[in-house]
Amino acid sequence: MTQNPKDFAIATIGSHTALQILKGAKDEGMHAIALCTPETRRVYESYGVADEIIELPSYKDYFSVEEQLIQKKAIVIPHGSFVSYLGPERVKNEMRAMHFGSKGILEWESDRRMEKKWLEAAGLNLPRIYDKPEDIDGPVIIKFHGAKGGFGYFIAHSPEEFYERMKAHTEKDGYVIQEYVVGVPMYVHYFQSPLTGELEIMSFDKRYESNADSIGRIAAKDQLDANIQTSYTIAGNIPVVVRESMLPMFFKIGENVVKASKDLPGVPKGLFGAFCLEGIIDPQLNFRVFEISARIVAGTNPFVNGSPYTWLRYNEPMSTGRRIAREIRTGIEQGRLEDLIA
Ligand code: ADP
Repeated sequence: MTQNPKDFAIATIGSHTALQILKGAKDEGMHAIALCTPETRRVYESYGVADEIIELPSYKDYFSVEEQLIQKKAIVIPHGSFVSYLGPERVKNEMRAMHFGSKGILEWESDRRMEKKWLEAAGLNLPRIYDKPEDIDGPVIIKFHGAKGGFGYFIAHSPEEFYERMKAHTEKDGYVIQEYVVGVPMYVHYFQSPLTGELEIMSFDKRYESNADSIGRIAAKDQLDANIQTSYTIAGNIPVVVRESMLPMFFKIGENVVKASKDLPGVPKGLFGAFCLEGIIDPQLNFRVFEISARIVAGTNPFVNGSPYTWLRYNEPMSTGRRIAREIRTGIEQGRLEDLIA
C-alpha cells in the first residue's frame, strides 16, 4: 500500500552524522527529529536542521523516549554514536522503533573475528593476523580490544620488540597482532539501495588523527627524546578524490561485500544502506582492508552539499544523509518501507 512520507518522521541521536541526516530528511520533505541532551541541543537549533527536538538526559536513556518515536512513526537512523551508546545487542533485542538497515549486521561488524570471516568470504585483501608473537617477521600493529580511538596501539617489528613494548600494557585483556601496512589510509563510503539493488559510491575520506597526524611536524630526534606514544584519536575528516582508475576495484569489492553479507547467519536481508570499507592503499595500489562499518560513517560529513561523485550522479546536492532519506521517502511512496527496516 502506498503511503505519504509526510506521515512519517526520520529521527537520530544528536551526534556523529546527525546534522546531514536531519538536513537530508528535511530536504526530502520529511519530518526531522533530533534526540538531544541539554548540552547538544544548541548545535541542532543553531543549524536549523531539526523540525523537532526531543530532549533526554543522556543518550543511554534512548529507551525512555522510544514510545514517542513509535507514535510519530519515526524511522531511526543508526550511526556510530547510536551503536556505541546502546551496543549492538540492545539495538537488536530491545529496540522497537523502525530501524533503517539490518540490525543483525551490527554484530558482525563489531566483533573482529566475525568481521574477518565476512570480509574473507567477500575475497577482500586483509592484513595478515599473526597467531602468536613468535611469528612476527615484519612490521605489525598491536590493537587492544576496546581501545578507544586506537589509543595505546603500538607497532613492533620482531618478537623481542613485541615483548619489550608489551611490558607497558600488562593491564590490557586482549589484543590482535596485525600486519602493519605502509601506505595511505582510505575510507570508501558506499550506499546499497534495497529498492534498486544497486551499489553507489558516495565519497571517500581520510582521517585527521591526534597525535598520529602531528608526529611528522617534529624531528625524529625530538620524537624520541619526548618518548611519544602514537595514538589515533579521531579529530576530524578530510575529503579525498581517488585515482579514477581505482574506481572499478572499489565498486567490485563493495559489491562482493554486499553479496557475501546475504549468506551471514542472523542477517536475512544482508547489508544495505550506508556502509564504509576502511583500509590502506599500498604502493602497488592494493587496498588492504582492516575494517568495515555497516552504517553511515563520520567521514561522509565533509559532503553535506554532496561529493564530486554524488554530483556526477545526481546533479543536485546529495549527502549520504539525504540519500538515506531519499531511499526512505521512495520506499514509503512505493509501499516498500518494509524492505528498508530490519
Ligand atoms: P579504532 O577502530 O580503534 O579507531 P582503527 O582500527 O581504525 O582503530 O585504526 C586506527 C589507526 O591505525 C587508523 O589510522 C588506521 O589507518 C591505522 N591502522 C589500522 N590498522 C592498520 C594496519 N593494519 N596497517 C596500517 N595502519 C593501520
